[in-house]
Amino acid sequence: MFPSLAAAHYAPALPLSAIAQPSRQFGLPFAGAPGPDSWLLGQGYGNTTGAYRQRRSTYGNLQGIHAGLDFSAPCGTPVRAIGDGTVAEVDGPHGSLPHNVVIDHAGNLSSLYGHLLKRAPLRIGQKVTRGQVIGQSGDSQGTCISAPHLHLELRDRAHQRFFNPLPYIAADWDTLALAGSFGRGYEYDLSAPRKWQSPDSQPAALRGGRLLNEFARPWPIAPGGAR
Ligand SMILES: [Zn+2]
Repeated sequence: MFPSLAAAHYAPALPLSAIAQPSRQFGLPFAGAPGPDSWLLGQGYGNTTGAYRQRRSTYGNLQGIHAGLDFSAPCGTPVRAIGDGTVAEVDGPHGSLPHNVVIDHAGNLSSLYGHLLKRAPLRIGQKVTRGQVIGQSGDSQGTCISAPHLHLELRDRAHQRFFNPLPYIAADWDTLALAGSFGRGYEYDLSAPRKWQSPDSQPAALRGGRLLNEFARPWPIAPGGAR
C-alpha cells in the first residue's frame, strides 16, 4: 500500500530457524471465563470465509489469510499481554485501527493487539508482564455495537511472518471454538475439501506472498470467487 514506508519500517524476514516454535508459551489476552457477557472466540486464524471474500483487498498482502484471531468482547474489556515482553509500538503502522499495540517477546515473536478503543497508555520500550492490562478492546467499525472485538496476531519480530496463535497459547481451544459465535467458517476448496478446515490446521502467512486461497473450486462461492 505504501511501499516506501513499508521498506523503511520492515526488516527483512527472519529465517524460520530464528523464531521460537510453539509450545503453549503464551496466555489468553483476556482474564476470566469466556461467555456472552465477557469474551468469546470469533473469527479464527487462517483460511476463513471472511478472509476469502476479501483475499484480493484487505488480505491481499497476507496471502489471503486472516492473520490473527478475533475475540468478541464488549468495548472497554481490559486486554492483557499474552506474555512477558517489551512494548514495541503504540499506534504503529500495523493496521487494525483505530488503535493498536505491538509487544516484542522472546524468540523473535511479537504480538499485535488491534481495534483497541483508545490509544494505550504505554511507552515504547516499557517492560510488560504476562497478564498485565495493556489496553481496552474496541470495535473495528468504531461504534461499539457493530463488531466489537480484539484482533490478536502473532508475528515474527520483523513483521513479515504471521503464525496461527493456537499452538502458542495455552487455552482450551476446543471449547472456545465450539462456544464462539460468528465467522468461524473456513473456505473450502472442493478439490481438497479437508484442507485448512480446523482451527489448528491453518497455514502460516508471509507478507506479500502469493494468495494461498485462490482455490480451483471454492465453496462458498463469493463475489470474485469464480475463475
Ligand atoms: Zn481479525
